[in-house]
Amino acid sequence: MIPAGFDYHAPRSVADAVKLLGSLGPDAKLLAGGHSLLPMMKLRFAQPGALIDLGRIADLRGIAQAGNEIRIGAMTTEHELLNSKLLADKVPLLVEGVSQIADPQVRYKGTIGGDICHGDPANDHPALALALDASFVLAGPKGERVVKAEGFFVGVYSTLSQTDEILTQIRIPVPAAGSGWSYAKFKRKTGDFATAAAAVLLQMKGGKVAKVSIALTNVGNTPIKANKAEQHLVGKALDEAALGEAARLAMASCSATSCQRGTADYKTAMAGEMLRRALQAALSRAKP
Ligand code: FAD
Repeated sequence: MIPAGFDYHAPRSVADAVKLLGSLGPDAKLLAGGHSLLPMMKLRFAQPGALIDLGRIADLRGIAQAGNEIRIGAMTTEHELLNSKLLADKVPLLVEGVSQIADPQVRYKGTIGGDICHGDPANDHPALALALDASFVLAGPKGERVVKAEGFFVGVYSTLSQTDEILTQIRIPVPAAGSGWSYAKFKRKTGDFATAAAAVLLQMKGGKVAKVSIALTNVGNTPIKANKAEQHLVGKALDEAALGEAARLAMASCSATSCQRGTADYKTAMAGEMLRRALQAALSRAKP
């Protein structure tokens, strides 16, 4: 359980970190909270020759509003997200999701950027980012690019981010006033990853769904945006028939694999149930 040897670098700016990444090449790995990377190194699934610790780059931390957008530094910890008044006010879906990640010890060190870049479909931030229509700012040798969360996750532990790029910021459009929200997560015990989970952001008008965004955790190689379920719900009241059909369509979009948390069929069924519960909770919070 002791990782192989590695060099350690602690740059003070994003520019220096990008330079280091360029000079050290793909053998170097970025270190954020270390809660996913260090276990992989101890198990020798990852053996980077160098770690570039992002922990001393002050610009990578913080939560602020810029116009109609919330901007979160990639090194902002789950603990900071959970205790942000701005997020509680503007993006409560994110806070509800974070409150269900791991335990306080993990949340003190784990970062939103690390959770996203790890590309683990069992992680909660990817689906939350999809439901919130977030964008990611990536800094690399050629400058910055901004990519949508939708399309960013390409496979298990695989994202659009290149080995010479650093995720610097997560941008979230402020949800419309009166939106309802919910992150319903089914897990075996407190602190566990999701067996399945559903993130919902909902706008109602005149008792009918005006807009809904749905994303699912841990029922495929990537987080899943349940587009067909979303389309089905628009213009409908959230009655039993609509909930049932949305759950069916969302389950049809899953491609779960069996694991220690359950068989593929069980995980898919739990995704459907989590979606029903998330939709009902979001409805109870939405302004009609
Ligand atoms: P690290 O482990 O430091 O890095 C992870 C990967 O991302 C590495 O490959 C690293 O190089 C890369 N990386 C990090 N930051 C950047 C960046 N800014 N730009 C580019 N690449 C970057 N997560 C959940 O979502 N839900 C859970 O329920 C959950 N439960 C957990 C329970 C336990 C006991 C533990 C130990 C972890 C759990 N996690 C869970 C994972 C945890 O949230 C991790 O913190 C997270 O997956 C990785 O974040 P990190 O900051 O620790 O990143």
